[in-house]
Amino acid sequence: MFAFPQPHEEQMFDCPVVPVTDSPEDMATMLAILFDSSSRYKNDILQFREVSTMLRLGSKYQVEHVRSEAIRRLKICFPDDLSLYATRHTRYRTIEQIHVEAYCLNAPISLIHEDCISVVNFARSFDLPTLLPTALYACAQLPVATLLQGYTGTDGAVYKLSEPDILRCFRSQRLLRDLLFLNYRWILNGPSETCIQRSECRYHMTADMAHLWDTLHFHHDPLIDSGRLWADLPNFGAGRYCRVCSAQFARAYDSQVAGIDWVQLRSYFNLPQPTETQEGQ
Ligand SMILES: [Zn+2]
Repeated sequence: MFAFPQPHEEQMFDCPVVPVTDSPEDMATMLAILFDSSSRYKNDILQFREVSTMLRLGSKYQVEHVRSEAIRRLKICFPDDLSLYATRHTRYRTIEQIHVEAYCLNAPISLIHEDCISVVNFARSFDLPTLLPTALYACAQLPVATLLQGYTGTDGAVYKLSEPDILRCFRSQRLLRDLLFLNYRWILNGPSETCIQRSECRYHMTADMAHLWDTLHFHHDPLIDSGRLWADLPNFGAGRYCRVCSAQFARAYDSQVAGIDWVQLRSYFNLPQPTETQEGQ
């Protein structure tokens, strides 16, 4: 940034002055990254606002290694491989095992759920389309009020999706809900062929099916794994299915989730397939 030609030659204490329009917080973070000799900005978990600064100022001042490091971290949190996408809406254990505010599991960025709004906007502004499917999926799980009105960050700024992306999220919710119903299709088949307490299992499954019928239309998170069965199905959660049915149903659920593919998720958000150049960013 200091190599850029400057319009005037101001000086202070015999040092050249470079006028900038960036916030003091952004500038402090950027200078710390450039002059920090430790490996903190390579290896440590960074706050989302730090990664935001790295991407925005790294792009603006063409500091390629800072920009690339921000993109590398964002791609780990919002990957283009669904099997690597680990959030509280894909890995049930994250709901109970990590800090309530942390959205991604084992990620190099400490971010909260609402930060996915900024990630979508970054993907749009900095031409990073591979971030979009998973970031939009995360946005689709936000409360309606947050989607419509945006999120006020700790800096007082309001972060909001564009109107077309808000519409994408709302339209996707019905399609994602259909996928969730498909994940539960196995319950219609009744107890396992090798069930060891057929009449009891059938009775409890019928009750759970009625419960699903009443509650499932409030959810559109089909990527979450079979850990949810204990919460979604009262009788399954209470251990009232036999061990054969319990194990078979958890496998059937996970198998259905694993069948949701990348192309399918893109199509639900009406996103084009990225070009080879974009995929290689
Ligand atoms: Zn059974």
